[in-house]
Amino acid sequence: MSKHEHAYIGIKKCGCVVAAMADLPDHANDVAREVASFIKSGLTIERVSCEEVRVRLTGCKCEEEATTEKAESRQLKFDNAKEAP
Ligand SMILES: [Zn+2]
Repeated sequence: MSKHEHAYIGIKKCGCVVAAMADLPDHANDVAREVASFIKSGLTIERVSCEEVRVRLTGCKCEEEATTEKAESRQLKFDNAKEAP
């Protein structure tokens, strides 16, 4: 079995790596389709070693934090509404 030594990663504008696709020469069409979908989602594509993918593919925590913030401000509004007469 041949080792997959390289992969494409999709990087968000914030710099977080949120997607990865192994560069499989036997499945070049599938790889191209996948990478094209990354680009469509607005990701920047980089070709890196599989070792690097393991280190850099962490997902995006920026959005999670933003969502939490929004949920909290909604909760605050809800509390205020309850206190209003
Ligand atoms: Zn991020």
